[in-house]
Amino acid sequence: MEMTQIFDIAIIGAGIAGASVAARLAGKHSVIVLEMEERPGYHSTGRSAAAFEPNYGPATIRALTRASRELFFDPPKGFSDAPLVLPRETVFVAPADQDEAFERLLAESQGLREIDPSEARRLHPKLRDGYAKRAVLDRGTADLDVDLIHRGFLRQIKDAGAQAICNAEVTGLKHGSHWTIATRAGTFHARTVVNASGAWASRISAHAGAAPIAIQPKRRSIAVVPAPDGEASDAWPLIGDVGETWYCKPQSGKLLVSPADAAPVDPHDAFADDMTLAEGIERFQEAMDIEVTRVEHTWGGLRSFAADGNPVCGYDAVAPRFFWLAGQGGYGIQTAPALSLLAAALIDGGGVPQSIADEGFDPAAVSPLRFG
Ligand SMILES: Cc1cc2nc3c(=O)[nH]c(=O)nc-3n(C[C@H](O)[C@H](O)[C@H](O)COP(=O)(O)OP(=O)(O)OC[C@H]3O[C@@H](n4cnc5c(N)ncnc54)[C@H](O)[C@@H]3O)c2cc1C
Repeated sequence: MEMTQIFDIAIIGAGIAGASVAARLAGKHSVIVLEMEERPGYHSTGRSAAAFEPNYGPATIRALTRASRELFFDPPKGFSDAPLVLPRETVFVAPADQDEAFERLLAESQGLREIDPSEARRLHPKLRDGYAKRAVLDRGTADLDVDLIHRGFLRQIKDAGAQAICNAEVTGLKHGSHWTIATRAGTFHARTVVNASGAWASRISAHAGAAPIAIQPKRRSIAVVPAPDGEASDAWPLIGDVGETWYCKPQSGKLLVSPADAAPVDPHDAFADDMTLAEGIERFQEAMDIEVTRVEHTWGGLRSFAADGNPVCGYDAVAPRFFWLAGQGGYGIQTAPALSLLAAALIDGGGVPQSIADEGFDPAAVSPLRFG
């Protein structure tokens, strides 16, 4: 296919990042989304733990998550037929050796309440007596329906008359009077390119001759295990240790258990690491009175980070009209509404939208220019 049309904006990647920013831009500009896989959401977006936790992550992430809350809890008309969230409380527990991390969490958080370990055991009846020295409760958290959210954005793209093309791996990027984009589905032309390629973001920037910002993919593994018989496990909170060495989230009569691993890897079609999972399940069983006799299935995914842990959102320092939307780490779903709004404003040459500025967000913290 040789498209002679010069699009205003070509977006590389149709995960939650690419889909959400395309949805914000498609009404105003001619937009094309290029995705290498057969379907959007095949990589990180389809593999998350689907949690909304506004007290998780660095300050910049927390501000973006708070600014994203409204879309999830009160979506615009027509975005989805069903609710995007299911409220679920979160309990963080700290054994004695995690006191420092616990103090930090308390100091930086909003709306968290320290509770007595006995209260934590009332909220989660399987928490072992004596494991937690301290505990906090977050009542502002929820399960996200990632598929519905992703589809909501994809529908907005379509309704605006724009297209997401699958099986269109970008293999080359060249800038002349505009960008010429070589893909496995043919050649495309666009004035602006948005790099929303997740774990592959550094590779795409190298194709474009953009600044060599390192976006490091880190593997995270999840095991699905049966919930104990006869327990109302779906009503349990998400629970994990403050030091992030394990967490457990109920889902449709099962439990998701993660070792909260973060091994640096090259971008690839990720899978769970069995040894890491086994060790994580061990730690989970030390904390929780739940015997894991069987693992039903497992998956792995990539959480991709810039060196300072903040996202990268803004125009490149070197390559003309090359826009970064990468490094969302373990928070790319819960921040997508605000980060896409910010990205669309910056792409258009505007400033930080008020709803994001109101959360005390500092745009310099996400600028690609911060790496010099
Ligand atoms: C186990 C796990 C648990 C997580 N839990 C949570 C959570 O509870 N809450 C939360 O908010 N976040 C969570 N995350 C993080 C979240 O999943 C990611 O931050 C988010 O999905 C990133 O979205 P993305 O669109 O940038 O990446 P992706 O979904 O990976 O999308 C990038 C896309 O770019 C495409 N692409 C790459 N190279 C090319 C190319 N050359 N040409 C064309 N297309 C290309 C890929 O095929 C891919 O579809 C979790 C992640 C993992 C792995």
